[in-house]
Amino acid sequence: MKKERERLVHNLWRRGYIKSRRVKEAMLAIPRHFFVPEHLLRDAYIDSPLNIGEGQTISAPHMVAMMAEELDIKKGEKILEIGGGSGYHAAIYGYLTGKGGMVVSIERIKVLVERAEKNLRDLKSYLQKRDINIGEIKFIHGDGRFGYKEESPYHKISVACTAEEIPRALSEQLAEGGKMVIPVGSSLSFFGGQTLVSVEKRDGKLKKRDVCGVAFVPLREGTV
Ligand code: SAH
Repeated sequence: MKKERERLVHNLWRRGYIKSRRVKEAMLAIPRHFFVPEHLLRDAYIDSPLNIGEGQTISAPHMVAMMAEELDIKKGEKILEIGGGSGYHAAIYGYLTGKGGMVVSIERIKVLVERAEKNLRDLKSYLQKRDINIGEIKFIHGDGRFGYKEESPYHKISVACTAEEIPRALSEQLAEGGKMVIPVGSSLSFFGGQTLVSVEKRDGKLKKRDVCGVAFVPLREGTV
């Protein structure tokens, strides 16, 4: 599936979603087909979200690329992801932080956490054979609205589900000078009412900028 992956990455580059050499490298190195259900394998390199079960989706590759570009992840950074899903996005971040970096990815649906852990094990043995080192990735079963204080503060925070407003815990757990991307809007209007917001923390205050309209699943309360 390497050819298909290369074609997808080339397209994302041409369309301006991938801008940096580093994000391009990450998207070439991490096989998305490790993170989609078996019956959808042939669609793994289409630029579209795909069902991963439990009513959830793996985000479209262009969205993963956009969020990674927006966060400008450096080697060795600590990243918090809310909405781990398949684990693909976390793996891309893990590649970008590299050895010595860390990704904490929180998911509220237990079965998905278990699947993401399996996907990660398969990915690791694939990468090991190619001598590629990625950062430590921890999948946590929990309610991401509260972040994960134990490892805070985080250089970057990435949220993959739409919040009505930015959860206070996430702003608090963002490091000074850190960045966050989060879809904000009404969970009632799936289309049209959500905006991807890019946030920077300066002198303890959040500086916000709208990036574009998006369609994510809602950030829900509690765990299942
Ligand atoms: N980044 C994922 C895409 C996940 S889709 C990937 O690459 O596959 C969004 C995910 O957010 C869903 O799996 C959903 O269950 C999860 N989610 C929704 N509300 C949440 C919450 N409060 N805490 C943690 N995860 C949540």
